This record gives sequence, structure tokens and C-alpha cells, in this order.
Amino acid sequence: MLKTTIIPEKCIACGLCQVLAPSVFDYTAEGIVIFKQDSNSLDLDVSDSLQQELMAAYKECPTRAIIVEK
Ligand code: SF4
Repeated sequence: MLKTTIIPEKCIACGLCQVLAPSVFDYTAEGIVIFKQDSNSLDLDVSDSLQQELMAAYKECPTRAIIVEK
């Protein structure tokens, strides 16, 4: 599992993380990042099977609004 945190205050609603990791991320009506599995949580243990797409989104997020702890 990969402990992942999102920081909505930093998100600029660019849409990249949802394009790169559609199984992990989704958006509010305003385009701000949420977890697809749990839209009310800011922390989530993401399955190892989603590591590749999660890390792609983590690396590309322009504002570092996604944090992954290994
Ligand atoms: S990539 Fe980062 S800034 Fe862009 S929507 Fe996702 S969390 Fe927000």
C-alpha cells in the first residue's frame, strides 16, 4: 500500500492527475482533486497494483498537491 495524501488548497484544477491516474483520482464540481474511492478523505492507502499510475500523477502534479509516502 502507498500512503497518499492530497492537499486541495494547493490544487489548481489542472486535470492532469485524473488523466494519468483515473483509477485513483477524481474531481469535485470545481475541478479540485479528490480520491475516487473515498471523496471525503484526504488520506488513502492506494493499492500497489495502482502504483504506476499513482506515481505518474504524483510526479506530474505542478503544485505538489499530491504526496506519496513509500
Ligand atoms: S495534477 Fe495536481 S494541481 Fe492538477 S488537478 Fe491533480 S492535484 Fe490538482
